[in-house]
Amino acid sequence: MSVDVVPPVQELGFLKRRHFVLHPVFGDHSQSFFSMTPIQRAVFLDRDGILNASEIREGRPYAPRRVEDFHIYPDARAALERLKNEDFLLIVATNQPDVGNGFIKKHVVQEMHRRLKDSLPIDDIEVCYSAQSENSPRRKPAPGMLLDAASRWQIDLSQSYIIGDRWSDMEAGRRAGCLTIWIDYGYTEKMPECPDFCTRSFAEAVECVLTHSVSRKNS
Ligand SMILES: [Mg+2]
Repeated sequence: MSVDVVPPVQELGFLKRRHFVLHPVFGDHSQSFFSMTPIQRAVFLDRDGILNASEIREGRPYAPRRVEDFHIYPDARAALERLKNEDFLLIVATNQPDVGNGFIKKHVVQEMHRRLKDSLPIDDIEVCYSAQSENSPRRKPAPGMLLDAASRWQIDLSQSYIIGDRWSDMEAGRRAGCLTIWIDYGYTEKMPECPDFCTRSFAEAVECVLTHSVSRKNS
């Protein structure tokens, strides 16, 4: 094949947007060879207060407990599509301790997530159903859900972001090595320690990701 048959790099849309890493693959006879795996950037998304409305009582947010109370924000789709257009993986990471505490059945949360996937361009949903007392390594502020998703999807955490409205989202992102974007809704609860960016709305948080990722690419 002559060299001029090879398409120029700028025409390879898939290639130009992703980094690749070589890793060994072992066959039947334990002979190794190398394959290319794309390394992807992700935006991790908290669920309640970010993609759907939380129930606010005395200044604190609570997850809805009934499917009929699960209301997806009407502007969430357009904002997420802006991130998809930049080839970000969109991974929801949500604590749902009401299941572990016995206040809600798991199938109710699963039905909410079916609706979420049907309505929004998200790639995956990581859920921790554990009660607070169980000290699960997947329960935010622990970074387990982000680390599990990174392993499954070949995510470069250092090039990824988390958007959330509580200190535990920011702490999970910080421990995983992501940039943290806090949406300050003025809750009367513990505030995050030094998130990388503070915003006042999901639209503003998405704009922050897009602006920062472009400036990073150009630096
Ligand atoms: Mg939240």
